[in-house]
Amino acid sequence: MSNQEPGTGISIDVRNATKRYEKSVAVDDVSLSIKPGEFITLLGPSGSGKTTTLNLIAGFTDLSSGSIEIDGRRVDNVPAHKRGLGVVFQHYALFPHMNVAENIAFPLRQRKIPKEAQARMIGEILETVGLAGYQDRYPKELSGGQQQRVAFARAMVFDPMALLMDEPLGALDKNLREKLQLEIKRIHQEVGRTFVFVTHDQEEALILSDRIAIFNNGRIEQVGTSSDLYERPESLFVARFMGESTVFKSAVSSNGTDWSMDFHGTTIHGAASGGTPSSGALVLRPEQMRVAESESEVPLGSTMVPVKIIQNIYLGSGHKYELLLPDGTTGIVRTPRERGTSLRPGDNAWVHWNAEHGVLLNDHDLVSTT
Ligand code: ADP
Ligand code: MG
Repeated sequence: MSNQEPGTGISIDVRNATKRYEKSVAVDDVSLSIKPGEFITLLGPSGSGKTTTLNLIAGFTDLSSGSIEIDGRRVDNVPAHKRGLGVVFQHYALFPHMNVAENIAFPLRQRKIPKEAQARMIGEILETVGLAGYQDRYPKELSGGQQQRVAFARAMVFDPMALLMDEPLGALDKNLREKLQLEIKRIHQEVGRTFVFVTHDQEEALILSDRIAIFNNGRIEQVGTSSDLYERPESLFVARFMGESTVFKSAVSSNGTDWSMDFHGTTIHGAASGGTPSSGALVLRPEQMRVAESESEVPLGSTMVPVKIIQNIYLGSGHKYELLLPDGTTGIVRTPRERGTSLRPGDNAWVHWNAEHGVLLNDHDLVSTT
């Protein structure tokens, strides 16, 4: 089948890809370099251009401009079935009149693999996806999760150097989805091929990916590991899409070493690091802040802002607070169990943090995330 070593994959380079439709731009100057063997996820809200980007890579959609390279070779004019990629969609699209073995054999027949080899390969791939012995079943005799496993098997049976998946778990219920996420991760580690996965579910992206590309409005906002995106978001959109955040917005002044903002009567400050925006949004993650019942409980030197408690939820492992900030927006704080308080909805309190925490971003208006 493949003339490359197991445990490798291919690189995929999307360069300045644009896909224009009559009334819209689905993908707008997207560039993305996917490394061999990497698990990369295209994450973003519905309509942000994920599927179109995947289809451009797969060859199901033509570029308006830009180029796609697979393994360093330009494939803009190579038809989909000659790009050597496996593809799985949200809806399994199995042939109903064919049994499992016949469904999986489809790409092997296209490649003219001898019958005996086909049977062996089908047996092996069914084992990989946890369906050993299911050769003779028909799709209607399988659950949704099992049908999707067959779809995976069919996409992987010819050992493609890359597997593209478009929301493959989107139609499954939560438990099954979580189980299959772990299996996809295991299969990726086992086969070592390049996996490109599309989802709008950030938790799914966190579980699966080596790197995540965040899509917004046909563009990539940021590409990075999950910790890059969580700890060093480069835009408010990324901060809001990846995990929970509390945002303090105000005009910023900087003296070169420190910046400060007046937030509804309290001063918030931090260390300046080149290019301090004049209109700032300070992003804090829920575990970077604490909640205090009175001013005297706030450690000396901490930044603090008065808040009203909306909710104080006991979660076993800790507390989650929903807070009303002085500007009318809401904030979220998560603390370990031993730091909990008896604050109740409506109580006045203080949210506080060490000035080292937080990322100061430019306060661009958010693009709708619907
Ligand atoms: P996602 O997968 O992130 O939900 P898509 O890539 O499917 O987003 O779509 C991105 C944008 O392009 C959407 O606004 C969508 O309506 C538009 N679009 C996608 N396919 C077509 C098409 N065939 N014709 C016209 N517009 C399209
Ligand atoms: Mg889509």
